Amino acid sequence: MSDYHSGTQQAPSPIAYFTMEAGIDPGMPTYSGGLGVLAGDTLRAAADLGVPMVAVTLLHRKGYFRQHLDASGSQSESPSEWSPEQVLIPVEPRATVAVEGRTVALRTWRYDVKGIGGHVVPIFFLDTSLPENSNWDRELTDHLYGRDDHYRLCQEVVLGMGGVAMLRALGYVEMQSYHMNEGHSALLTLALLEEYSRKAGRPAPTGVETEAVRYRCVFTTHTPVPAGHDKFSLDLARQVLGEKRVDTLISAECCADGMLNMTHLALSLSRYVNGVAMRHGQISRDMYPTYPVNSITNGVHAGTWAAASFQRLYDSYIPEWRRDYNYLRYAITIQRDEIRQAHAEAKRNLLAEVERRAGVRLDQSVMTLGFARRASTYKRADLLLSNPDRLRRIVRQAGPLQIIYGGKAHPRDEGGKDLIRRVVQAAATVKDQIPIVYLEDYDMALGHLVSSGVDLWVNTPQKPQEASGTSGMKAALNGVPSLSVLDGWWIEGHLEGVTGWSIGDSWRTASDSAIEATSLYDKLEYLILPTFYKRPDAFAEIMRYAIALNGSFFNAQRMVDQYVKNAYLHSADDV
Ligand SMILES: *Cc1c(COP(=O)(O)O)cnc(C)c1O
Repeated sequence: MSDYHSGTQQAPSPIAYFTMEAGIDPGMPTYSGGLGVLAGDTLRAAADLGVPMVAVTLLHRKGYFRQHLDASGSQSESPSEWSPEQVLIPVEPRATVAVEGRTVALRTWRYDVKGIGGHVVPIFFLDTSLPENSNWDRELTDHLYGRDDHYRLCQEVVLGMGGVAMLRALGYVEMQSYHMNEGHSALLTLALLEEYSRKAGRPAPTGVETEAVRYRCVFTTHTPVPAGHDKFSLDLARQVLGEKRVDTLISAECCADGMLNMTHLALSLSRYVNGVAMRHGQISRDMYPTYPVNSITNGVHAGTWAAASFQRLYDSYIPEWRRDYNYLRYAITIQRDEIRQAHAEAKRNLLAEVERRAGVRLDQSVMTLGFARRASTYKRADLLLSNPDRLRRIVRQAGPLQIIYGGKAHPRDEGGKDLIRRVVQAAATVKDQIPIVYLEDYDMALGHLVSSGVDLWVNTPQKPQEASGTSGMKAALNGVPSLSVLDGWWIEGHLEGVTGWSIGDSWRTASDSAIEATSLYDKLEYLILPTFYKRPDAFAEIMRYAIALNGSFFNAQRMVDQYVKNAYLHSADDV
């Protein structure tokens, strides 16, 4: 397959995609959740499409963490170590970055993401574990989202400024664009400001350099939840970056409320800014009224997230799908029976894994609900269990149910940990009528099994806090409809009774947990369970539309194509 047509005749210089986490392979614990999985899917789709791109991230030798739950649902953590040496290719060039006035040496490891046509998108994993560094500096690239603010800011210096230095050492003289996947890498703008000033022979950046940086930078913001935006005190910033750099940042208007705010830094030094769904773009414009925030809705990589049984089905009906996910629209031709069979295989695989991991044997013929994602309080994992009496009545009236949960809370997120305990304890009160399992250590491998193997994907975020969400998209690709609050991607993907069902009925109003719980229960009892048990052809029709209508749009090829057209192409003729 030829390279993506980027509008230029010569080989274009690549796009540099900077991300703190990257979900590449279930065996590499270099991601924590949706943000990292999205980065992995972006790179896989860019490789499939032949888009010239390289990625920069940290090595995370100690990973995120492994999750353990005791009988009451209390979470404990252990390190998730892996051997980068066995998976990654060592690369020769070294670079350095200044941290707290010290010179920290950097090396990098490469992983090649290969597209279906052979195009390669390399990922560079930065690593400070070198003998010339102090013990403390050697651990800078070990823990994903670990330790304190001081450690985090030093890591962000390595990612943003060290990343630019490493790209130069690798021979990338300039990039077409620098794409910041969330604000963690925003200090790359500071590295560019310094480089452009140095080249112009100026001691400090002027408006000319600021404009040159803005011209090359693209920023994607991923959450409207304030805690998701990195902020550091100016004292800490002065300690880590030095007076002069902090003065530069202050004059570039990157500090708000006496803090160095990575979102503000990225906003003020990017030409193109976007949220990750239509609604999230709107919300972000309200949050940052002085910036033009666009929307590009997230998508998932179908070759990664479709179960083996569905991949075979798509190969036989629509063989073009692997290179062009638009063809998933033609899934309307697939026989309902074959969709049911492919789903039954995915469900068997999931239930076998549940039995292996949790020792619980679930029933292949019982309607199975899935709820698995990071345990953040706004996702309200406990809404489904908020009225145990009502749930019991539903199964008596409309047929049996079983529920599969999964998801890690950040080690310092007490609210998230409490949420897991509430779910596990509520599950215990209904377990005689409704089998419920909470699977430990939710990761990409489990995400693949759960999103493809359940019969219904349940999603209950508090509006408008779900920026996009991607698990329901993975489910749709596997013919699994969603029952979801109208927030994030579901505002765009929901067609009532066609691609799934809404919880509540307007995306414009704020969430009300009581109203939404009633809506959830009513739809399960009066619409979804009766369709599942009494009208299997009608249910299979909905499965088919989930694939054809949602799978064909909420995928990573469409997403990357939109980044190329709206965010990257702009500077193509000036490289
Ligand atoms: C897809 C995925 C997510 C994203 O979950 P959302 O429901 O979109 O928030 C998180 N974690 C893992 C392991 C995933 O595979």
